[in-house]
Amino acid sequence: MTIPLAERMSRLGTETAFAVSLEAAEWAAKGHKVYPFHLGDINILTPRSVMDGAIQAMEGGKTGYCPTAGIPELREALAENIGRSHKMKLSATNVAIQPGGKPSIAKFLLGTMDPGAKVLYPNPGFPIYESQIEFHGGVGVPYGFVEGDEGFELDMDAIRKGLAGGAKLLIYNNYHNPTGASSPKAEMEELARLCVENNVYVLSDEAYFDVRYDVEPTSIAGLPGMAERTCILYTFSKKFAMTGWRCGAMIGPPDFIKLVANMNVNDESCTNHFVQYGALAGLRASDEEPQKILATLKERRDALVPALNAIPGIKCYRPDTTFYLFPNVTGALERKGFKDTDELRKAALRETGLSFCTRVHFGRRLPTETQHYIRLAYSGINVDQIHEAMDLFAAFLK
Ligand code: PLP
Repeated sequence: MTIPLAERMSRLGTETAFAVSLEAAEWAAKGHKVYPFHLGDINILTPRSVMDGAIQAMEGGKTGYCPTAGIPELREALAENIGRSHKMKLSATNVAIQPGGKPSIAKFLLGTMDPGAKVLYPNPGFPIYESQIEFHGGVGVPYGFVEGDEGFELDMDAIRKGLAGGAKLLIYNNYHNPTGASSPKAEMEELARLCVENNVYVLSDEAYFDVRYDVEPTSIAGLPGMAERTCILYTFSKKFAMTGWRCGAMIGPPDFIKLVANMNVNDESCTNHFVQYGALAGLRASDEEPQKILATLKERRDALVPALNAIPGIKCYRPDTTFYLFPNVTGALERKGFKDTDELRKAALRETGLSFCTRVHFGRRLPTETQHYIRLAYSGINVDQIHEAMDLFAAFLK
């Protein structure tokens, strides 16, 4: 490297799931069949309404800069939409449009976190939290999940310990990547109570808020005392199968949103102008197309969960949200003599073509962990391929 690097560059992490994609692509390029369970991308077309909205906007000349906080119509429509689902009073002043969901993570931290400040974040969790906290000079305080009767539950003891240790910022991802966990009402209320009591500010990552099969939506932002201390990460990526369009929003208290808009000016000027009209058309259209996407995803989940549970040594919950499964593979690992999940992952790719991530792609393993997990995304693979892949996986682990 000829360019001398700033010290902070040694602290920048990454989304290692992309490295798994690369390995899968290399294996496929050698002529092998690959079953893609690794990346949370969606092999379903973006709804027609969204495409038409963007095309009309382009043809209508919406190809120049636009207001840095986003086009007013989209800010208003999102305020109305989220206000309704979250039972909150919101207006356009609560919304700053972003190029995707991810930028809200860094912008929240840059706006709230002084060097050395402690930030509670989920681990396993979206790896960008750990990366951005450390990159910007904060101290990450990880909290994990415990296996409950119905699914993964927040490790509230770890959260309480983090709060006692002085953390004033919390990242909370409900519904959760990679476990598919969704907080029951009592859990979320307890978390909100702790935040109010300890004067904690929250980034509520709601990337999967609309990827729900059978549950009523709830957001921590709508609970008593939380609106003024919570910023919501919203994204169009998942509900509308728009991962590559890059459109999302930060939703929060107006004074903070003003600062976020100023960060937008400094970073990207504005989010892609005509893409915002596509997103707006999606919000205004009936829910028929997103519902179809959900029905497809649910069918995949219902094919995958029983197939995994039929394999000796694997235990998998059936989450009601997200498009991820986080099966416990400890038994299978021991029975087959793999030293860790990475060894299992590599062997599975080589011998069956199944490509998936493991726990280590979602933050550093905590010293208290004894169980082993892999993560399967079913957003990019059809049901017939799921059946084929699971037959191969079962034979491989026999
Ligand atoms: N937050 C979580 C938990 C995610 O899983 C993702 C994407 O996979 C994001 C944020 C980022 O979303 P986007 O692709 O819209 O930037």
